[in-house]
Amino acid sequence: MSSNQHYSFFHSVEQSFDKAAKFTQWDPGILEQIKACNSVYQMRFPVKLDDGTIEVIEAYRVQHSQHKSPCKGGIRFSDEVNQDEVMALASLMTYKCAIVNVPFGGGKGGIKINPKKYSTYELEKITRRYTAELVKKNFIGPGIDVPAPDYGTGSREMAWIVDTYASLKPGEIDAAGCVTGKPVTQGGVRGRTEATGLGVYFGIREVCNMPDVMQKLGLTVGIKDKTVIVQGLGNVGYHSAKFFREGGAKVVALAEYEGAIYNPAGLNEDEVFQHRKKTGSILNFPGATNLAKNTDALELECDILIPAALENVINGENAPRVKAKIIGEAANGPCTPEADDVFAQKGILCVPDMYLNAGGVTVSYFEWLKNLSHVRYGRMEKRFTENMNTRILGQMEELTGKSVAGKDREFILHGPEEQDLVHSGLEETMITATREIMEIWKSNPEIPDMRTAAYVSAINKVATSYGELGIFP
Ligand code: GLU
Repeated sequence: MSSNQHYSFFHSVEQSFDKAAKFTQWDPGILEQIKACNSVYQMRFPVKLDDGTIEVIEAYRVQHSQHKSPCKGGIRFSDEVNQDEVMALASLMTYKCAIVNVPFGGGKGGIKINPKKYSTYELEKITRRYTAELVKKNFIGPGIDVPAPDYGTGSREMAWIVDTYASLKPGEIDAAGCVTGKPVTQGGVRGRTEATGLGVYFGIREVCNMPDVMQKLGLTVGIKDKTVIVQGLGNVGYHSAKFFREGGAKVVALAEYEGAIYNPAGLNEDEVFQHRKKTGSILNFPGATNLAKNTDALELECDILIPAALENVINGENAPRVKAKIIGEAANGPCTPEADDVFAQKGILCVPDMYLNAGGVTVSYFEWLKNLSHVRYGRMEKRFTENMNTRILGQMEELTGKSVAGKDREFILHGPEEQDLVHSGLEETMITATREIMEIWKSNPEIPDMRTAAYVSAINKVATSYGELGIFP
């Protein structure tokens, strides 16, 4: 999705890192080590397609940092995949995990294919072969490197990966922890699918609940009635739009490849999704206006703009035309360092990717823990809690002579199920990270933006754990 030929995503991550490093006290050597990608594995392998022809596939796995094990990060299937992009995305994973206190190093994988051009059987062959290549080089495993879904992949691909891994590693008791984002029936965790979108919502909601921040932007406190634009109706965009709408905001525009639609009265993401499934396009949605280009949606008047597709969509060229007050980076790297400079001048608050979209990897962490512990969340405590709640409520009813009925009763008695625990763990994680970053930003008035504050948080945490490992005495 690079709009200018010389754009290097990895370089822009390095630029943001350097901008933040100035606000830390670490030895330049430590900073150099944190920035570097530790291992880059580029592979080519042949796959026989359904029509009998053989295609050579180009693919990558990058392990950016092993300051914690395993490395963690998704695998994307896209025509745009290249080494620079995978390196940038792997670096962002390191910083993301550090900020939200998920004890992993950063990794990322990519296969340079457009998945829409292949049959399901071909995609399965490609995914399984890619997994086998990773196994051969010791680039995958519950304690080594744990992939997950990303752009163009989902739970189906993760199911193929775990099955291939387990069959190549017979008897490995923790094999299910070699990949996350699996279907629940294959060792996945409830709540992973919507995790990134829900995390985006929790992060922005927390920012919107900060009176001083809202005052500076000229906005009222809270999510209710805020106007939101979402670019990308994939898993992340769809769920972000859903949680904003359910939280009382109004999603006034949605954008996809083929164009964008606008309705000031608000759009329902699921109705738009169904319309797209039926007609092949989000355009001509009843009651909405079509916009000529999908990028037009980025420049409309709104309170919150959520780019939820690919990198480099808001850059030095179009940033001056952005009218949103808050940008929530649901995608990885949607805004370039040049765009950041424009936002700082215009007083736009950009809530950065490397913590805002950390919901996915946070719940991946919960899934990995579930796989290692071999027990479903809630199994041990659900019944106990319900029995306890029933007794407490019974006592209160006896003492007061009143009784609680209906939905309230259900709510009080309910013991936690897996999804409840996952959502609440995610909510806690996102709120804590938002507050930590804001504290860093407020504590140093020289820090120009929230991204730099987030990087400072990440650098401090990664550098500290290098110290703990005794690597840098
Ligand atoms: N691909 C997602 C990301 O960019 C999730 C990674 C994971 O769950 O490991 O954060």
